Amino acid sequence: MKKNITVLPGDGIGLEVVQSAVEVLETIGTIYGHDFAFDYADIGGSAIDKHNDPLPASTIKACKAGDAVLLGAVGGPKWDQLSGDMRPEKGLLRIRKELDLFANLRPVIGFDSLSDSSTLRKEVITGIDLMIVRELTGGLYFGEPRERREENGETIAVDTLIYSRSEIERIIRKGFELAQVRSRRVTSVDKANVLETSRLWREIAEEISTEYPDVALEHMLVDNAAMQLIRDPQYFDVIVTENLFGDILSDEASMLTGSLGMLPSASMSAEGPGLYEPVHGSAPDIAGQDKANPLAAISSASMMLKYAFGLSEEALAVDKAIDQVLNEGFRTGDIAREGEAVKTTSEITQKVIETL
Ligand code: ATP
Ligand code: MG
Repeated sequence: MKKNITVLPGDGIGLEVVQSAVEVLETIGTIYGHDFAFDYADIGGSAIDKHNDPLPASTIKACKAGDAVLLGAVGGPKWDQLSGDMRPEKGLLRIRKELDLFANLRPVIGFDSLSDSSTLRKEVITGIDLMIVRELTGGLYFGEPRERREENGETIAVDTLIYSRSEIERIIRKGFELAQVRSRRVTSVDKANVLETSRLWREIAEEISTEYPDVALEHMLVDNAAMQLIRDPQYFDVIVTENLFGDILSDEASMLTGSLGMLPSASMSAEGPGLYEPVHGSAPDIAGQDKANPLAAISSASMMLKYAFGLSEEALAVDKAIDQVLNEGFRTGDIAREGEAVKTTSEITQKVIETL
C-alpha cells in the first residue's frame, strides 16, 4: 500500500514525539511491505518564526494533498506574548476547520502495568477500553451570537448553543460505525431534560440507531455520565456527545489511566484526510531533553494505520508492542514510579521498534 503522510511536528516535544511516531511507521512499512512517504510542513510557533503565520497556505495545501496528517503539538513560552490570529494554537484551530474535522476520537485504555500510577483502584482501571467521540466543529464553541453587551446598566455575556440536524447526524453515525467494530454499544450523552439541542440530539440518535440494528443505543445525561466514568469506567464502550460535553468528559476520562503522555487522538472528516495527534501539549518544561513519553504519538500513529488506512493488523501490532514495552518495565519519567529506572524518548522508541 502506498500512502502519503503529512507530518506537522509543531513545537516543543512535538518535534521529538513525532519523530518517534515516524520511525515506528517506517518500521511497520518495512515489515508489512507498505510504502509510506512523509511530507513535512510547519505549524504553530515554528511556522510563525519561518512564515509569520501559524498556519501558512503551504501547510494547508500539503495536508489536503496527503492521505493523513500526523501532528505533534504547538505553542511554547517563546510565543506567549503573541495574541489573536498570531497565537500558535490558532494554527491548530484553523487546520481543524480547513480539513472539516468534525469528529474527535479519544480512546481511553487501562494498561495493567500502569494501574499503580492512577488515582483509581486497580480493579477499576484494569480493563478500561472506551472511546469518546466528540463533535468538534459545532455547538456552543462556535454558535452566534457570542458577545458582551450592556443592558439596563448590567453587563451581559452571551454564547449560543446551536446544532443542525446534519451536524448531529454525521457525528452520531460516526459513533455507531465505531461501535460496530468494537463492543456494539453506544452511549449517547446529552442534557435532554434541560436543553432543546439535546432533545433534537436524542431524537436523531434514536432515528439513526434503526440503521444499526446490531448496535445497542442508550442515552445518558451528562451529569450522570461524568459520575459513571469515575464509578465504573469499564461499563462504557463508545460515548458519543456534543462539543462542550465531549471536551469535559474526555479530559475527565483521560485522567482515569495515568499519564497524558499515553493518550492518542484522531480527528476525522467525512472524506478528506484525518488528523492524528497525541492529546498532550508541547510540554516546554521538558522540550529538547529527550525526556518526553513518545507512546501517545506512537499510539496516534496506530490510530492512523487503523482508521485512515484500514490497516487493523498493523495497528494491533503497534498496540501490542506498546503494551509489551510497558510490561517489560520501560518507562519515561512521567509514568515511572519511585525507584524505577527512567528511559529516554529515544530508548523507548528503539524498544518499540525492536519489539515490532
Ligand atoms: P497545552 O496548552 O498545549 O495543552 P499544557 O501546558 O496545558 O499545554 P502539556 O504541554 O501537555 O500541557 O504539559 C502538561 C504537563 O504534562 C507538563 O508538565 C509536561 O511536561 C507533561 N507532559 C505532557 N506531555 C508529556 C509527554 N509526552 N511526556 C512526558 N510528560 C508530558
Ligand atoms: Mg492543556
